[in-house]
Amino acid sequence: MTSTKGFAAQSAKGDLGPYAFERRELRSDDVGFRIDFTGICHTDIHQVREEWGASIFPMVPGHEMVGTVTSIGDDVTRFKSGDRIGVGVFIDSCRICVNCLKGLQQYCLDGYTDTYNGYERNTKQIAFGGYSNYFVIPESYAYTLPKNLDMAAMAPLICAGITLYSPLKNWKVGPGSNVAVAGLGGLGHMGVKFAAALGATVTVLSHSDSKENDAKAFGATEFINTQKADWHLGYRKNFDLILNTVSAQIDLEPYLTTLATDGSLVMIGIPSAPYSISPGSLIDGRRSVAGSLIGGIPETQEMLNFCGVKNIVSEVEVISADYINEAYERTIASDVRYRFVIDCSTF
Ligand code: NAP
Ligand code: ZN
Repeated sequence: MTSTKGFAAQSAKGDLGPYAFERRELRSDDVGFRIDFTGICHTDIHQVREEWGASIFPMVPGHEMVGTVTSIGDDVTRFKSGDRIGVGVFIDSCRICVNCLKGLQQYCLDGYTDTYNGYERNTKQIAFGGYSNYFVIPESYAYTLPKNLDMAAMAPLICAGITLYSPLKNWKVGPGSNVAVAGLGGLGHMGVKFAAALGATVTVLSHSDSKENDAKAFGATEFINTQKADWHLGYRKNFDLILNTVSAQIDLEPYLTTLATDGSLVMIGIPSAPYSISPGSLIDGRRSVAGSLIGGIPETQEMLNFCGVKNIVSEVEVISADYINEAYERTIASDVRYRFVIDCSTF
């Protein structure tokens, strides 16, 4: 066992605070690594605060971690001590279902093993996530990281990055595509960067006027303030694809009117209450509403390699552990440019 220091929530009501625990010994296919940086995803906040239902406590959140390999099991072939390594939203899956075999582990028919707020597949112990300074992972569930990119700025790629990259690939976005990204937060800003890098025309739909210059710097050609009444009227049947990363409940009807014929609104943000959609908004233009969940292992590695080639990273505010609770409040207030990342040497 390895003594590990982190931060945990003890209940949905209180703040997160220091928490010490033990990580398991390495199995033959495991890699042990020092966590250098972990991003704060809005999903962490939803789960800590039980916005999606009952959670498991104590909870050490964190599923965007990057670090440096410190030890390897006897059968490990892809990593050696000193290598850069990343881990995301899942730490295992059944490995044998049709989706796992296709590299779509995020859609494992048995349910993937969550990095936190779940139980480890073999031991049935509570899984503790990346708000900590040491981690153990089977090598086939870890990612190799480009050598040319800043470590802190890479952490958010492993959830925020892949979560936007995957639908852009699935809906075949490229030159000539007209894409809108709703919500310019941790996920949304990665969507703008990726869609622009793939050659699409990108528009940001945001309720924060102050983000316009940043949106354009990330690659958007247009910025629409959705706080303005009737913002959608000039954009009827305009976008091929809207990626909705908004973490809160919004009225989807104006967004649907801006979808072109055969356009798709892809739900990515996960507010706690259901949405309502009128059938007429879909029927007029054969529009679709779909969803997309992170990405599988091969596609996540592809995304990281793409970032290395294109020099794409997340915009981050690096914080120490004692700032986590304030960072949560600022994330909820849409006041983060554009991802908080914890320096894990401060646990
Ligand atoms: P985030 O950094 O907090 O960004 C969310 C953005 O939504 C904000 O920056 C803001 O953008 C907009 N927003 C927030 N509250 C709003 C409100 N009341 N009205 C209108 N717009 C509002 O969060 P994130 O980490 O990017 O995560 C976004 C969502 O995706 C969360 O629900 C998270 O759980 C979910 N998620 C899903 C997946 C998946 O696989 N599908 C993976 C990771 C996360 P503007 O200021 O530009 O308006
Ligand atoms: Zn996440």
